[in-house]
Amino acid sequence: MIKDAITYYLQNRNQPVLNPKAVLFDMDGILYDSMPYHVKAWLEATRKEHLEGSMEDFYLFEGCVGGYTINKLFYRTFHREATQEEIERIYKEKSRLFNTYNEGRPMAGAIDVLEQVKASGLQRLVVTGSGQHSLIDKLERMFPGHFIREKMVTAYDVTHGKPDPEPYLKGLVKAKVKANEAFIIENAPMGVRAGVAAGIFTIAVNTGPLPDSALLDEGANLLYPDMQSLANDWQHLMHEVKTYSK
Ligand code: MG
Repeated sequence: MIKDAITYYLQNRNQPVLNPKAVLFDMDGILYDSMPYHVKAWLEATRKEHLEGSMEDFYLFEGCVGGYTINKLFYRTFHREATQEEIERIYKEKSRLFNTYNEGRPMAGAIDVLEQVKASGLQRLVVTGSGQHSLIDKLERMFPGHFIREKMVTAYDVTHGKPDPEPYLKGLVKAKVKANEAFIIENAPMGVRAGVAAGIFTIAVNTGPLPDSALLDEGANLLYPDMQSLANDWQHLMHEVKTYSK
């Protein structure tokens, strides 16, 4: 299965080799078990504004910057774009609610994935659509020895958030590697779309309630059910990459 995924990537991307030197980690739903709190906060903040949005919507929009999500709901409900004032007001309230609910819990198995990646000698970077300082600022303490702030891409670093490839392309620049020298680890459909559009081998981990097809249909190269399964399979994956990537 991994062999097929590698062959598909090389042929589809017209790459001569897959030679990972860096792993670009999404944050929410990959490093932090924070998605249930994001969804709860989005539901409450948008209902106050009489916007039409469901739990599933907020999992589908995950990874996009706040303004993108708010505009989608404005078009659906009011058939117009949100004003800058509306975007700022709603996102501020969503962030306030999120910070009251979120427990800052790491995702089960995330530290094991990071340790495996480190043992393989690969760089670890964060590429997130989030602008939540409460989570971003804690990454270095929560996962000591893995991340540095200068090598993170957040909502503040990009003009176009996911599903645009820009965040992951910026991640490549910060890692100083090419598209065929990185892996992405993502849990969100829009994040997978961004990773695939950036030409990077994208590993999806389905840590939420959406069906696997939501990630596979966006072009995920591999899929794991949780971070622990990915950690357990990491050495095997690296072995397969060395064997079949040329
Ligand atoms: Mg995510």
